[in-house]
Amino acid sequence: MNIEKNIINIKKKISIAAYESNRNPQEITLLAVSKYKSCENISDAIKAGQYQFAENYAIEGFKKIQYFSYNDKIIWHFIGSLQTNKTKIIAQYFDWFHALDNEKIAKRLNSQRSHYKSKLNVLIQINISNENSKSGVKLNNLNDLVEKIINMPNLLFRGFMVIPAFESDYNKQYDTFYKVKCIFNIFKNKYSTVDTLSMGMTNDIKAAIHCGSTIVRIGTGIFGVR
Ligand SMILES: *Cc1c(COP(=O)(O)O)cnc(C)c1O
Repeated sequence: MNIEKNIINIKKKISIAAYESNRNPQEITLLAVSKYKSCENISDAIKAGQYQFAENYAIEGFKKIQYFSYNDKIIWHFIGSLQTNKTKIIAQYFDWFHALDNEKIAKRLNSQRSHYKSKLNVLIQINISNENSKSGVKLNNLNDLVEKIINMPNLLFRGFMVIPAFESDYNKQYDTFYKVKCIFNIFKNKYSTVDTLSMGMTNDIKAAIHCGSTIVRIGTGIFGVR
């Protein structure tokens, strides 16, 4: 397992996919998904110049943030689904939350975020594959949630995140991501703070970038299988 090599490889993939779709690779942020991975693994990634990390579990993430607190370059994203009783950890310690899908969580994050800190960057997770069991907001409820969160002073609405149902075929991945791109563009034109689309993982990074993703969330491709 050579984390540095993996990061170089993923960056190459990002550049190629960007050029294929006439995009500037610098518009695309590589987010290293470090869930279940050790602080040693994260240190290796930092040595390779990686500073944006994502965690899925509040307590695990909090411990890593404490461990690396001497390094103020690191930006921490929370990408997991969030239980009500864990919102304070996210509000106090993280920079980004990608999986906002209800008003109750938004209200808690807003009231628990100190106004001395910069606003918490939030992405609304869209349930694009419309599976009943999965988290994310259904399209017909999206406007309502957006209108509620844009008035919350300690949250900054930056855009959307999606986790589509697993699909290995590029064309099918593309069709799903293309729908998200269209939704993103509508909101981007309406709200000046919207500039971020978190989509694409190790398995579908190319289709995601071809459809305008600005953050790709890569776990396996950097740290190996979990
Ligand atoms: C684990 C995880 C990832 C990373 O997936 P890989 O396939 O390992 O790249 C991305 N996004 C979310 C929300 C995850 O939970």
